[in-house]
Amino acid sequence: MRLLLLGGTSEARELAELLVAEGMDVTTSLAGRVARPRLPVGRVRIGGFGGVPGLRAALADYDAVVDATHPFALGMTANAAAACTDLPLLRLERPGWEPDPAWHYADTHEEAAERAAALGERPFVTVGRQELPRLVPALGERAVLARVVDVPDVAPPVAWRLVTGRGPYRLDGERELMTGHRADVLVTKDSGGVYTWPKMAAAALLGVPVVVVRRPPGPQGVPTVHEVSSAFTWVTELG
Ligand code: NAP
Repeated sequence: MRLLLLGGTSEARELAELLVAEGMDVTTSLAGRVARPRLPVGRVRIGGFGGVPGLRAALADYDAVVDATHPFALGMTANAAAACTDLPLLRLERPGWEPDPAWHYADTHEEAAERAAALGERPFVTVGRQELPRLVPALGERAVLARVVDVPDVAPPVAWRLVTGRGPYRLDGERELMTGHRADVLVTKDSGGVYTWPKMAAAALLGVPVVVVRRPPGPQGVPTVHEVSSAFTWVTELG
């Protein structure tokens, strides 16, 4: 059983570890976005496949695919669903955060930026480097503190300050960062999981309002699980 594991998440690393320990042949695929990625155990390939045709061609080397990419990695998830017509495909998607009635939800990053602009002057933004341009129309003039893993190629607005970091984060650090910036609104996407949860807890403690970008819908017709252990069972039962 040769498994292609579409990764870039902590869940993908956990699944690779479990499967490799069982002696399975696992290749994790990373997009290559991050300068120094955390590498999983097992084989690793890095870089895009070249859309659906490229992925289809690559699938000749595998017997099954687990798409464990981030809940907001829409392109890769759609490509996997389109390419895996003849191979078993499972989507492993970590659950979103339990909604808090105090949070403000937005369907898009643009809408989240508008909501944040109405709520505060000094936003703390943690939506990822790629989405930052979508926030500029509404927040370009605000004193934004944007946290990213790697510095973006395009310079942010002059009013913005960038800070680099990568989870897991701790509550005291998050509280310090937000207090130091005098953040009065937090903008995040519904990434779910524990690695980035402490900023939500810090916002609640500090009374800072939170704007959450809602998750896009998952892939249609693809069996989906939310726990690494369920994905492990799926793969081992196939093998
Ligand atoms: P995306 O928009 O869904 O993907 C765009 C293109 O990047 C895909 O069509 C594919 O290129 C390539 N790609 C994405 N994930 C890949 C993978 N695991 N292996 C090989 N190629 C991949 O993806 P994204 O949102 O930029 O995310 C990129 C990676 O970062 C993913 O692995 C994801 O799990 C991880 N990540 C994303 C976020 C987020 O907020 N989006 C957060 C944390 C981690 P081709 O069409 O050329 O195959």
